[in-house]
Amino acid sequence: TSMAKRKKNQKIRTNFKHGYESRTRKNDLTRQFDETQFSEDDVQFKERVSGKGDLAKKRTIRGQEVQTETGTDFLLEIDEENCLPGQVLSVHGLNSFVEDKQGYIYQCATRKLLKTLSTDQRHIVVAGDQVQFRPVQTRGAKENDSQTSSPPPTHFREGLIVRVEPRFGTISRTSRNRQHVIATNIDQIIIVSSAAMPDLKPHLIDRLLLTAEKSRIRPIICINKVDLVDPALLQAVVGLYAQLGYDVWLISVVTGLNLNRLRTLMTNKRTVVVGQSGVGKSSLLNAIQPELGLRVGHVSSENQKGRHTTTSAQLLKLDFGGYIVDTPGIRQFELWDVIAEEVAGFFPELRPFSQKCRFPNCTHTHEIECRVKDAVADGDLDLRRYESFRQICDDAATGS
Ligand code: GDP
Ligand code: ZN
Repeated sequence: TSMAKRKKNQKIRTNFKHGYESRTRKNDLTRQFDETQFSEDDVQFKERVSGKGDLAKKRTIRGQEVQTETGTDFLLEIDEENCLPGQVLSVHGLNSFVEDKQGYIYQCATRKLLKTLSTDQRHIVVAGDQVQFRPVQTRGAKENDSQTSSPPPTHFREGLIVRVEPRFGTISRTSRNRQHVIATNIDQIIIVSSAAMPDLKPHLIDRLLLTAEKSRIRPIICINKVDLVDPALLQAVVGLYAQLGYDVWLISVVTGLNLNRLRTLMTNKRTVVVGQSGVGKSSLLNAIQPELGLRVGHVSSENQKGRHTTTSAQLLKLDFGGYIVDTPGIRQFELWDVIAEEVAGFFPELRPFSQKCRFPNCTHTHEIECRVKDAVADGDLDLRRYESFRQICDDAATGS
């Protein structure tokens, strides 16, 4: 059986690596994951449900503990022969819509054991999850009458999710100390702002960048409506973000400037589009793929009217490959549960200076001796970015 185990582990590794390599930026945690995971040891998993549920206590579950960005995950050992890999497009209450590799969509329930295993996540399965699921026979398509009945239509396919793979690039918020995962396995966040109407708001870009940094998702900054201004006026802000290492694009939905470039960036990626209302997110999505903006808009407008569905997020397919991940309210999303002490860590350019501050717990705000403040005074750090930092710290401290 050790051969079989080895093979199984190997397979998991392959699946995982595939997703991993598509990322453009490695962070320490994922690197650590890459190096240390998938030891050949199977662990015997017992009772992590902290005293709750007799069922879980009595059960010994086979699988592997794996380290993820957010903590320890548990990979159930499953009967892969009878399973298909898929991705969750959306979740509606107890049902998830799962797309297999061929593009068929299955309406899936979730294995009870997975619910037992889940401790700190409100949703066991969320949009973007990579899952293993077991297709189930649907009514009217029993094996013994396959001769006489036609195969079930695609909308009738059903399945059971038996495993959720570790998540990377998760958007979540916390309510009452519980993490609420909204969508996962997101490759990038396109931060849309506009050069005019509404005016460019670099502080808002900074806030959204911080959210991306916190979520460990690659941000791409787009400044739209550049047809309305003299591009020379944007050079300073573009230069600043580019210098900080961020991808920044001047675009115009009206003239089509750089839209092809954006399409290329979105190809085969899962992208979230965020930004203030009116900057042109729907227009951009419609330009990328007709009707997409409308479909996206439909979700949020429905939600605003209070006709709340249980849909937390959905993956919308791009014709050229990839997905737009959209959630009611996701596009105006801002800082989620950032605490003042961690804000500095999400401003990459502060790091070289903050490390040299006299006090290790320096907040870089009111302290008299502070290398960060010195750097701002000397012009080594951008004053406007520093002001963003201060503002975000203040907001985090006051909980706004
Ligand atoms: P959203 O709220 O971010 O989804 O913004 P919309 O897509 O609804 O766009 C808001 C307004 O900006 C609409 O009137 C669009 O026609 C306009 N708009 C979008 N992109 C551009 C652009 O590149 N240039 C100009 N001049 N107007 C644009
Ligand atoms: Zn300091």
